[in-house]
Order: sequence, then structure tokens, then C-alpha cells
Amino acid sequence: MYCIRYISRLGLTSCTGLRSIASLSALPETHQILQKTCRNFADSQLFPIAAKIDREHYYPAKELAKLGNLGLMSIVLSEKYGGSGLDYLAYAIAMEEISRGSASVGVTMSIHNSLYLGVLEKYGTEEQKQTFIPGYIDGKQIGCFALSEPGNGSDAGAASTTATLKGDYWVLNGTKCWISGGYEAGTGIVFATTDKKLKHNGISAFIVPMNSPGLSRGKKEEKLGIRGTSTCQLIFEDCEIPRENLLGKEGYGFKIAMQSLDAGRIGVAGQALGIAQASLECAVNYAGKRKAFGQPISKFQAIQMKLADMSVKLESARLLTWRAAWLKDNSMPFTKEAAQAKLAASETATYCAHQCMQILGGMGYVSDMPAERYYREARITEIYEGTSEIQRLVIAGQILKEYGA
Ligand SMILES: Cc1cc2nc3c(=O)[nH]c(=O)nc-3n(C[C@H](O)[C@H](O)[C@H](O)COP(=O)(O)OP(=O)(O)OC[C@H]3O[C@@H](n4cnc5c(N)ncnc54)[C@H](O)[C@@H]3O)c2cc1C
Repeated sequence: MYCIRYISRLGLTSCTGLRSIASLSALPETHQILQKTCRNFADSQLFPIAAKIDREHYYPAKELAKLGNLGLMSIVLSEKYGGSGLDYLAYAIAMEEISRGSASVGVTMSIHNSLYLGVLEKYGTEEQKQTFIPGYIDGKQIGCFALSEPGNGSDAGAASTTATLKGDYWVLNGTKCWISGGYEAGTGIVFATTDKKLKHNGISAFIVPMNSPGLSRGKKEEKLGIRGTSTCQLIFEDCEIPRENLLGKEGYGFKIAMQSLDAGRIGVAGQALGIAQASLECAVNYAGKRKAFGQPISKFQAIQMKLADMSVKLESARLLTWRAAWLKDNSMPFTKEAAQAKLAASETATYCAHQCMQILGGMGYVSDMPAERYYREARITEIYEGTSEIQRLVIAGQILKEYGA
């Protein structure tokens, strides 16, 4: 297996045209090597323990460290800061392959890469980067992203957690909820309002070490899927963090959150593609072996129609995802395209997992086979980093702007 940290040096780290992302075999060599490396890793190290992760709520610390060794826990971070220096297309491909093995591992990889390291690299000062990045590139420590609150999820601009400057410290009060990796993370990017009157323009972003005095964790949520990562409340009670931990300018937090989520959605789309791809493979394998009425069920056209529809949705969503990544990599606007990719890929994951279960019949409903896990895991991709309804609003807003309507 290659350490992908070095494959960027093979050259061709980013695609030069949309033509080259039309199929995997047309991708640059770096991306093909990456895809194979991730696939091998997922098949040998993740798929065999994916059911255990789910059943036992097992946090895959060892596997995340191995991902770190491969360079996947800092895949888009520049080499200057110790990252692999690959592009977002590479990230989308890696996210798909890793999530095909375990969607639980995928979520940690996604939040850490795009919503922790990505945010710090883009908005942090040099001093903040030197302090909060080095311990976070090898998968042994992870970061989290705390935007949602009990009173506001989709309406992220209505944050009620406050941050007040007192001397050399910001004092945070309030509760964040649903925070992925809240128990495991060493540091979080936390959004809090510094001026309530300004509504979303009064929100600021902060870098918060998770051992800060006055910060505690609420209970771990019992979840339908992605059980290999904790999801919990973060409770701030006069939590003091140094003044210099403000990330970006005061009042820029909402912009930072929205721009970061645009990029994060490419990662979630990749995660959803991985679940969809795993569902398709599971369904095809089973259909070829299971016999009914004297022949494999794959011979029945009703089954073939399902497989065909799954593949069309999957490959369409993959192209949308790669296009969004390509636009970002080429510094072009990608808000609409990232939302389209996330919407299409997450609904495809749900569709494919549903059809996979149907093709497996009774075996689809029991935990001896992974179909029921795919079915449960797919659903979260339609909810976090913006629900499907919110993606549609983002897409429609952009279209109306484009047409001047
Ligand atoms: C497992 C898990 C992990 C998560 N991880 C994180 C994390 O790490 N960090 C973090 O900050 N958050 C995280 N979240 C929170 C997640 O992003 C929110 O749950 C999500 O954004 C939806 O917010 P909500 O739950 O408050 O739903 P609400 O905003 O209350 O929405 C409820 C319903 O109303 C719909 N709705 C809301 N507004 C509109 C509208 N304007 N038009 C049409 N429909 C609308 C929604 O689409 C949804 O169907 C996580 C959530 C889960 C379940």
C-alpha cells in the first residue's frame, strides 16, 4: 500500500479538464493509485470490522491511526503543514472508498479533514496553524466542528451560544448539540454569537481545546447508524479560552461556517457514494448466488431493473460529486454544485440501500448481512451538513440568482 502523502509528488495532483473525470480510468495516475490504496485498505481493514463498529459502538482509534499513516487524515492539507497536499477530487474518491468499507470511519475522516483541518488552514493565523495543526495530521487526535444547537440546526444563524470578551479571554456560555466526535476530539471549531443584535453577522468562530475549563460533554446519543463516532452535546459554562483563539475576524463566523460546509458537502457526498456503491455490490453478489424458482434471482428482469436504476443513480451522483470537487480545485464557484452533489448522493445512498435490502429479501433485514446497516447508515447523509430540504433551498437560491429571477 502506498502512503498517499507522497503520491502528490508523482505529479498530476489535479485534473486539468472535466473530460478527465468522466471515468475512473481517465483520472490522473495519482487519483487511480489513491483509489486502489483506499479500496485495499477498506477491504482488508475496515469491512471486516464494520459490523463490530456498528454493534459495539466501537471507536476505531487504531484504524484511524492507520488512515493517518497513509496520509488520509490530512489529505487536503498542504504539505507545508504536514498534510498530503492532494485536491478535493482525491478527497471525494478517498471518502467514497473508505465509507464503502465503513461509513462510521468515513464520518470521522470527513469532519476532521474538511471541517477541522480545512477550516484552520483556510482561516487560521500562522500562529494558530502552528499550534492546532501539528498534533492532528496522523489520525491519533481528531478535531470537531460545533455549529448546531438544541434550538437551531438548519437555521444556523440563530446561534444562542454567546462569547464575551473579558480581558485576555473569551468567555463562552451555551450548549452545542449533535457534535460528531465530541467525546474523542482534542480541539473543536466552535461558533458563538459575539453580538446578538447583528444576528448571523454577529456570529464568530473560535478554536476551543476540549479540555478548556468550563467545557463539559453531555450524554452520547443513541443513533440509528454511524455508531463508531460519538455524537454529543458540548456544554459551555463560563468556559474561558484565550483571546487569540478567535478564528478569522469577529463577526465572520457565519460566513466561515457556510463556506466550510460547502466544502464539507463534497465529503458527505463521497461518504454517501461509498454506502451506495457497497449496497450495489452487495445486491449484485447476492442476486447472482440466490436461487428462486430454479434460477438465480439475477435472471429475473424485476431484479435487473433495480440493479440498473441503482447504477444510474450512483454514477450520476458520482459525476456530480467529482464535478463539484473539480470546480473547487480550480477555484471556481461550487456552492450550487456541492449542494447538488450532496443531495443526489445522499438520496442515492438511501435509494440503493433500500433496493439492496429488497433484493436480499429476508436476509436484507437481518444483521448477518450488511444490507440493513447500509440502510441505517445511508439516512444520516440526508440530514447532517444541511438536510435535503436545505440543499434544495441552496440550489434554488443559486439558480434564481443565475437567471436573475
Ligand atoms: C448523527 C449526527 C451528527 C451530526 N454532527 C454534527 C456536527 O458534527 N456538528 C454540527 O454542528 N452539527 C451536527 N449535526 C447536526 C445536523 O447538522 C442537524 O441535525 C441538521 O442540520 C438539521 O438540523 P435540526 O436537526 O435542528 O433540524 P431542523 O432544522 O429543526 O429541521 C427539521 C426539519 O425541518 C426542515 N426545515 C428546516 N428549515 C427548513 C426550511 N427553511 N425549508 C424547508 N424545510 C426546512 C428540515 O429539512 C428538517 O426536515 C449532526 C446531526 C446528527 C443527527
